Amino acid sequence: MSLQIKAAKPSTEGARKFLSKPDKLMFIGGQWQAAASGKRIDSLDPATGETLASVPAGAAADVDRAVAAAREAFDTGPWPRMTPMERASILWKIADALEANIDELAELETLDQGKPLAVGRWAEIPGAIGQFRYFSGQTMRTEGATIPTSINYQPPGKEVFAYTLKQPVGVVAAIVPWNSPIIMAAMKIAPALAAGCCVILKPAEDTSLTALRMAELMQAAGLPDGVLNVVTGYGAEAGAALAAHARVNKVAFTGSTTTGRAILDAAKGNLKRVHLELGGKSPVIVMPDADLSQAVPGAANGIFFNAGQVCVAGSRLYAHRSVYDKVLEGVAEYGNALTLGHGLESTTQLGPVVNKRQAERIMGFIDGSRKDGASIVSGGTQDGQTGCFIRPTVVADVRADMPIVREEVFGPVLVCTRFDELDEVVELANDSDYGLAASVWTQDLGTAHRLAARVQSGTVWINCHLMFDPSLPIGGVKQSGWGRDSGQQAIENYLETKSVCMVM
Ligand code: NAD
Repeated sequence: MSLQIKAAKPSTEGARKFLSKPDKLMFIGGQWQAAASGKRIDSLDPATGETLASVPAGAAADVDRAVAAAREAFDTGPWPRMTPMERASILWKIADALEANIDELAELETLDQGKPLAVGRWAEIPGAIGQFRYFSGQTMRTEGATIPTSINYQPPGKEVFAYTLKQPVGVVAAIVPWNSPIIMAAMKIAPALAAGCCVILKPAEDTSLTALRMAELMQAAGLPDGVLNVVTGYGAEAGAALAAHARVNKVAFTGSTTTGRAILDAAKGNLKRVHLELGGKSPVIVMPDADLSQAVPGAANGIFFNAGQVCVAGSRLYAHRSVYDKVLEGVAEYGNALTLGHGLESTTQLGPVVNKRQAERIMGFIDGSRKDGASIVSGGTQDGQTGCFIRPTVVADVRADMPIVREEVFGPVLVCTRFDELDEVVELANDSDYGLAASVWTQDLGTAHRLAARVQSGTVWINCHLMFDPSLPIGGVKQSGWGRDSGQQAIENYLETKSVCMVM
């Protein structure tokens, strides 16, 4: 261990004030409440191991209270009954409130999750703000249609008039992961609220702080009580209770494929709607004609950004034999040059992973691949006093059946394979249970678009990786999930279509 991380203090008044009251409460029906059990979960800084705050360990009884509050807000409260423009105006004010507090939110996210400050400040929190702005506009586009029917058995002399109405699904449980807490929450909350739904957000147990701060800001921006509730707690308790709850109409989930399956099982009791954004193992394909001055840093950033804790991280590299050595060497050099440190230090380019358990899991994949005969080209070690730093790792000489190639590692770990032919790389890229994203690096337009069509994934980036926009749908095929977040159709996740047919 060579990395010594000093405790870091936030510089914003807002973050200091938020952390000065470390015993956090949950947000239910517009009130701040403790868990019925009185149990709490510590929130740690993964770089130092320091306890930042603690949050209530919510469970079934707390979920019941939150569902009752959301139900009341939906069944009798103003939110679903407001005009779209009134809802849009509040969503826009929420975006303004997040923007006004962006530095504070970025610091809290870094302390709680570990990510370099710039990742939150310039990518993820602006992304969350963008979700509220985009779906503010979408409130006014929840349009049904008039339908010309061919019904011919209406009484003589009468006509049929038919149309569809779009109506909110109801009470939504939004369950989100720890890798990018605030934007993952915003990607569910913003479209759900735009549709007129009321929400219970369950942040991940390791990273609940920004969800609680966001709820404060949303209330101050004018969101009526009960429209957003935040229940903190463990997945197996609070999360499972929400997924199974008979009075919840829908679960919007982002997280691992394993948990996605558990949620499906839990949701079957009342056949609630389920929308799943799950894991990935995204291929990065470097063709022989790629501009390596773009492809190498692009592939490296695609896996090392946010310490690889990105669902769409480019974790499988396929480089053509003619460029393989150069790409491999370039990505390893890029990784070796990254400065590891506390996310609040301005020099830090790579922070810790979220907790010790995750670091051990990543090391398990690396050590397992070594035993299976792979070569660790760079990195491959753990660092820092909490063990949460993983050196950027490049692994070569892998086989398609190794766990490190098949499973989602969710860390800064890239596995590399050479290929010769286009058909071969399509087969290799598609040889995965996942299908979330992919990138293709080539200067040939035909190759780019042929590959874009043939790779099985919800997103294909050409000569780039990790490009996001609230208007661009994101989600997966195969075991990467069902449905899409972002983009126009995301609001459909939170709407029911009702047909109205009249004889007149
Ligand atoms: P996770 O599945 O362990 O947890 C996600 C959330 O589910 C947490 O809030 C957790 O408390 C809760 N949970 C756990 N067990 C539950 C249960 N039985 N019932 C209900 N809720 C439960 O995932 P994670 O480890 O927090 O996050 C990493 C995963 O998230 C990775 O697989 C990553 O790919 C995925 N992810 C996907 C996307 C996407 O858009 N597809 C985006 C980000 C992260």
